[in-house]
Amino acid sequence: MSKHSFTRRDFLATAGKAGMVAGLSGNALAALAGNKLHSDHRISLPDPIPYKQDPLPYAYGALEPSIDALTMEIHYTKHAATYAKNLAEAVEAEHVDTGKTTLEELLGSVSKYSAKMRNNAGGHYNHSLFWQLMGSPGKMTMPSPALDAAIQKDFGSMDNLKTKFNDAGKTRFGSGWAWVILTPDKKLAVVSTPNQDNTLMDISEAKGQPLFGLDVWEHAYYLKYQNKRPDYITAWWNVLNWDFVNKRYAQLI
Ligand code: MN
Repeated sequence: MSKHSFTRRDFLATAGKAGMVAGLSGNALAALAGNKLHSDHRISLPDPIPYKQDPLPYAYGALEPSIDALTMEIHYTKHAATYAKNLAEAVEAEHVDTGKTTLEELLGSVSKYSAKMRNNAGGHYNHSLFWQLMGSPGKMTMPSPALDAAIQKDFGSMDNLKTKFNDAGKTRFGSGWAWVILTPDKKLAVVSTPNQDNTLMDISEAKGQPLFGLDVWEHAYYLKYQNKRPDYITAWWNVLNWDFVNKRYAQLI
């Protein structure tokens, strides 16, 4: 692997365990990674989400039985691919220099752009994160001690967090997302957003860094669960990849 193809993500993947042993925070690791384009403003952000669609990090059937393979295939190759394609068109038409403006920065000033930009920058970001934060049932770990302490402090218990999150997903009218976010004052909070909005957007009522989120659009569950969105939400907890969430929390806090 050449020096130039060694990305920040590669660095974090290989250095993460060593860094944790050495007591380095995610932010320190990000600084060490030294991505020239983004090092100035990415220090306090988690792993960057690229403008293009990354490969799905597991097989379509990996999340069975919670999420069926056909739903995953259509969701990834049709719905999410379309957000990425439309985002590419919008950044071209609206002259966004994607080498200089990160996707997170674009979301932070999305009110300056078109509805097409808002819907597709949000859609692409949300799905890119969504694929990463799921994994095969049975391989999931638990919240890290640091995240568990924050959950106890901000929600009282994991059960309370789950109840709030499930309610946010169930009561989101129409299409949208339920989120656990880290607010600007570093507290965990449960919120929901409509359509493909998220809490990085300047137009969002709730502001903060998404820690993890759940797609409650019908396209995410209808083939298997039909009108039973609450059953989908309950089953989804079985495929939440706490290893990923723990890493992301360490980078954000
Ligand atoms: Mn979706």
